[in-house]
Amino acid sequence: MASLAWGGFSNGKIPVSALGVAINYRPLAGQPVGPLAGYMAAQAAHQWAVMDAHYFATTGRHLTLSEGYRSYADQESRWNTYQRYRSPLAAYPGTSLHGWGLSADVGVEGRAWMTANGARFGWHPTGKSFASPEPWHFDYLGGGDITMTPGQLQAASGSSKPVPILIPTSNGDNMIQMQLNKPDDKQFNGFIVDVAPGYIHHAGTMQEATVTMQVTSNPDERHILGWEDFTRVLLGHGIDRQFFEGGTSSLAKLDAAPWGGLWSQERANSYKLDAILGKLK
Ligand SMILES: [Zn+2]
Repeated sequence: MASLAWGGFSNGKIPVSALGVAINYRPLAGQPVGPLAGYMAAQAAHQWAVMDAHYFATTGRHLTLSEGYRSYADQESRWNTYQRYRSPLAAYPGTSLHGWGLSADVGVEGRAWMTANGARFGWHPTGKSFASPEPWHFDYLGGGDITMTPGQLQAASGSSKPVPILIPTSNGDNMIQMQLNKPDDKQFNGFIVDVAPGYIHHAGTMQEATVTMQVTSNPDERHILGWEDFTRVLLGHGIDRQFFEGGTSSLAKLDAAPWGGLWSQERANSYKLDAILGKLK
């Protein structure tokens, strides 16, 4: 296969700022993935969303992504496991297209449809031809004839504004702050949350809302979003609906949770919680 390297980066060593958020990211329980598994190369992420819009229009359901981008370190760890146990099959570190953000491991839902139709969007069912077949693995190789502009994609998804991309911060973290614009809802209008991959924090006070600005060192990084975009960002980062749907009951879930309104899906995010809690004290 011709090299699909891009951006002057190395395989598995692409900064988050050069990647795009992939929609419908749902990591599988019991299968650990890296903190950027919900990202892809921007064009691949765009065409993934275009493909999902078509799948949704056809079936009323969504494709799901269990892993996109994979770091070199993650690939190395899988390779070591493969060397030791001869299973599961893993690509040599630096050669997987996951490391270029050009692969998607896809949930059972929609796999057959993607195998038949994915190439029209540039997504090819390459995994079925692996030495040990992986019917869930698809690669974005381009060359599809169906695409949409960002505006068309937003219209198709009922969205009104671009979905914000998480920004890397000076300490290697990446997070954004979102303020919900929902004027017809007294409980949710003005609701501010801090979001990072697998992480959400309801900023219940202005003091807390200010802390994220200190952590990100970017006072302009607050996105004011409508409900559709707000939910797309959270679902796109694998954050469960129970924490932001259901009006006051979901607010109560965030605020009354044993972890004090902070939630982290992955151990790797715990340092973010520590950083924020440290500043609150
Ligand atoms: Zn894969």
